[in-house]
Amino acid sequence: MKHILIKIRKFLLTKAAIWIALSIGLALFSKFIVPNILATLEDHFLTLLATSLVLNIVLIALLWFIYKRSQFKLKYGLYWNKKKKPYCPNCKIPITVDKSGAQDYHCKKCQNSYTLKNKAGSIITPEQALAEL
Ligand SMILES: [Zn+2]
Repeated sequence: MKHILIKIRKFLLTKAAIWIALSIGLALFSKFIVPNILATLEDHFLTLLATSLVLNIVLIALLWFIYKRSQFKLKYGLYWNKKKKPYCPNCKIPITVDKSGAQDYHCKKCQNSYTLKNKAGSIITPEQALAEL
């Protein structure tokens, strides 16, 4: 009988020792390892978020650039929109025919005058350009 009690006590002490060791291990794990894992995850998450943000901004800028470009068609040295209105090739703002009587287009912003020329380099009138657009 005494022999059995010793065995039980030894068994319980061993189990208690294991339990205490596990508890200490778990406590140390949750105290030091878990915050590090969380911090690492947080860093990765922020990096991922920042990368995603940058990629989205680049994508939006690219789409905007493509959209803006596709709004205009470069012909005869000027940009033209889909309604055949001329735009300054430098400023991309609407321009009008020069009031001096010449067949040039004048930009009020950059103060440049543009003569319409076809692919052969010949000067053409705004009427011709509009007819050929
Ligand atoms: Zn201009």
